[in-house]
Amino acid sequence: MEKKRPKICVFCGSSLGRGPAYADAARRLGGAIGAQGYDLVFGGGYVGLMGEVAHAAKAAGAHVTGVLPVFLRHLEPPSAEEEIVLLTADLQERKREMLARADAFVVLPGGLGTLDEFFEVVSSAQLKTLDQPIVLIDTDGFYAPLAALIDAVVAEGFAGAATSALYARVATPEEAVAVVSQRLGRA
Ligand code: AMP
Repeated sequence: MEKKRPKICVFCGSSLGRGPAYADAARRLGGAIGAQGYDLVFGGGYVGLMGEVAHAAKAAGAHVTGVLPVFLRHLEPPSAEEEIVLLTADLQERKREMLARADAFVVLPGGLGTLDEFFEVVSSAQLKTLDQPIVLIDTDGFYAPLAALIDAVVAEGFAGAATSALYARVATPEEAVAVVSQRLGRA
């Protein structure tokens, strides 16, 4: 029987960002996901970093599931490369579907949607309603201000000291997939 491939859910920008480092990290992440025997769950649109991850993951042998709210179909169009495109009524249902399918979450740089998705999973982990690994890829230090904000939240008594242990922060996509493999007992 074919061994089940765990699914990594990637949250990232629907834009490419400034400079080539972000798209490079997105392509390397997609490549590592496929090469290390994972499948991809993502937001379904072939735009920005989302598209880069999905193309690279597919090219590296991953099955790709896109989860796309109906109203975003034209703004963030899917591609024929996705085996499964799940259309949802709204962003909230999309997040629920992505969370339900994922064995791990990896977050690349992105905009407000990406931050919303990161806080959704990390705040759920804080409440112990989610226990999949969460890894933040800190391309060129992009997430240093976010980590500093979370440290300030802890220092000011709004969250416990264990908060920073709810997620791993790594520099490269390869490290992110290695952390996931270790946490899922595949390393
Ligand atoms: P962004 O990081 O803003 O480029 O968005 C990344 C993905 O998150 C895109 O698919 C957006 O459509 C989506 N998104 C934007 N706003 C939200 C939100 N409030 N909740 C969930 N997803 C969102």
